Amino acid sequence: MKKNDSVALSDEFLARIERDFGSSADDFIEALLTEPTLSVRMNNRKLAKTGLALADAVPWCADGFYLNIRPNYAHIPSFHAGAFYPQEASSMFLSHILQNVDIQRDYNPTVLDLCAAPGGKSTIISSWLDGRGLLLSNEVVRQRAWILRENIAKWGAPNCLVSNAEPSEIGQNLPNLFDIMLVDAPCSGEGMFRKDAVAIAEWRPDSPEKCAARQRKILTDAWAALKEGGLLIYSTCTFNSLENQDIVRWTAENLGAEVLSVDLPDEWGICRLPILSGYGYAFYPHLVRGEGLFMCAMRKTSASTCGRREKIGKSPTPKFSAECRRAFDSFLSAANDFELVQLGEEIRAIPSSVAATTKLIISKLRSVLWCGVAIGTEGRKGFQPAAELPLSWAFERGSLAEVDLDDAAALDYLRGLCPPSLNLADNQWVVATNGGLALGLAKCISPTRTNNYWPKEWRLRT
Ligand code: SAM
Repeated sequence: MKKNDSVALSDEFLARIERDFGSSADDFIEALLTEPTLSVRMNNRKLAKTGLALADAVPWCADGFYLNIRPNYAHIPSFHAGAFYPQEASSMFLSHILQNVDIQRDYNPTVLDLCAAPGGKSTIISSWLDGRGLLLSNEVVRQRAWILRENIAKWGAPNCLVSNAEPSEIGQNLPNLFDIMLVDAPCSGEGMFRKDAVAIAEWRPDSPEKCAARQRKILTDAWAALKEGGLLIYSTCTFNSLENQDIVRWTAENLGAEVLSVDLPDEWGICRLPILSGYGYAFYPHLVRGEGLFMCAMRKTSASTCGRREKIGKSPTPKFSAECRRAFDSFLSAANDFELVQLGEEIRAIPSSVAATTKLIISKLRSVLWCGVAIGTEGRKGFQPAAELPLSWAFERGSLAEVDLDDAAALDYLRGLCPPSLNLADNQWVVATNGGLALGLAKCISPTRTNNYWPKEWRLRT
């Protein structure tokens, strides 16, 4: 029994590693008992001074950097503005797959991230799309779906939706819609042992078997949503073949897919695991500077024999007030490229290029929590801009007055306070910024009183 601080790695797990890794098993286990690596990925649409001491670049992701010192992210205002995402380095390999797998590069794909919370890989997809196409980021666990919504809102891409649906609801209601589907499956989490003592404590000898059954069900349930010829990217953060190579083989043979390969340099230390016609890629702690990960790309070769997707009937165009339309025109840097939709109480702008698909998704899924750009709401007090508006890439800077706050004042703002400098003229909306990066809104309601509109559930609690 080996100990990682307070939690012991189980004998069954150790025996399996010895069996699978032979003479390098000791190196593997030693590495699993060291400190995890630290890294972040930058949002290249929100370049700003983050105060982070970036060390080496992550070799497989242009926006990824290792850190030598663990920062207190919560105390860095630009983190709350979506300037970067703390993400362990191996996960960033998705970026290399998207850049290098054999897919048309000049098209506008419709992408599904099926198991997406908290949103790390969705932000990779979003940066790769860079405004093209559409991303549906889905999470089945309600509470986690709200965290996903927060992270997508902060990243700022205008071409994303967030939903809270079962894989079966997506498979049944959105057949043949997606060009790319990422299934970053719930797994036994062996690759997180170094980072997360709970993963060690929760692991049981039958965890891989149980997780594999769930992974097969998730893939089966969602399969119809992927177009024939579409790309499936399957990943886990675990080491065992039951949840990795066996699931890929099972998918290829039972659902109908071809296993693909990507080029990568040997010096990255990533292991190529041959599976049928291609490879799965495995990150092991003694070979790679990152946590455990398995990732594999496949092309769907079967047609899903599900009913034809009905066309959505024309729903009555919602009526928006003149004030709302004026706000829409001024708040967006290219309002002509967007159209207004109603999402529950909220008024949203969606890119016209993907409006039909966005509306189809909204009409077919029961729980869409986010789409496009949050514009505002209309109520008894008239039109009110949305708290998340300034975080969007599509927000027209200068359309509202701005006040740049130093770090201390910005942290006060993020706690829900109103630093005195935010007080401008009465009845005026203000965008609080930090280092030039837009954070959120405040409204001066009298010479001595300003209301803070940073969303309550996002507030810093320190
Ligand atoms: N892709 C995420 C990221 O990069 O931030 C991490 C996803 S995590 C590995 C797997 C996710 O699958 C969790 O958020 C979990 O709630 C969700 N999940 C759990 N059971 C599921 C199920 N039966 N179907 C779909 N998703 C499920």
